[in-house]
Amino acid sequence: MPIVSYCKKCKAEVAPASTCELCGGKLQKTAARVSWSCLHRPLTDWLAWNAPLRIAIPTIVLVAVVAFVFEAVQSGPIGLQLLLKTWFFPLIGGLLFFVIGAVFLYYLRRGNELNFFVLDHKGAHLQLYSAKNPDHLHLISERHLAWSEIRRIQALPERNAILFYAPKNWLSMVLYCDAQAFLDAAGYIQARISKAKDVRLSKPAEGLDDIT
Ligand SMILES: [Zn+2]
Repeated sequence: MPIVSYCKKCKAEVAPASTCELCGGKLQKTAARVSWSCLHRPLTDWLAWNAPLRIAIPTIVLVAVVAFVFEAVQSGPIGLQLLLKTWFFPLIGGLLFFVIGAVFLYYLRRGNELNFFVLDHKGAHLQLYSAKNPDHLHLISERHLAWSEIRRIQALPERNAILFYAPKNWLSMVLYCDAQAFLDAAGYIQARISKAKDVRLSKPAEGLDDIT
């Protein structure tokens, strides 16, 4: 069950109750959390590709557009014709191809990842492990988002995923879930953000076309 309580004394997740099942100590209200793990393959997930490409592609395209406009203003149509004959645009095309290829190879090498998610009174926490060797999990990265940082939350029930935006239009964390974890996490978030006026939970499926 993804809903648990965290006992600070035992440094362990225990069954949700008013007292810890291990030490018998009283559990505070803030001890309640949603905790789950899931296996994820970034290579086949557009949401994972979104992270590196949303910076690289607009940057490369912007450089090409700026060079094009600059040449048009400076030298007019003849300058543009000359620019089209140079290595510049093939280089831009090659760079785009290289970036996409590099991300592909990077994710291919990463293989499956094991995501550990925790939602608690402080915020959302993710620990990402390489699952290439199940006997020896290797921590790749971890990320912590405080509730006060999160500006928009989008639930994608079709994909059992929850998206946290911080700032409002910047996808900051994707929570991959199974069906049960999705329900528990959505319930926890719903209760949490009803107290925070500046966080908005998108209606299920709203804005889906923008992301997938
Ligand atoms: Zn305890």
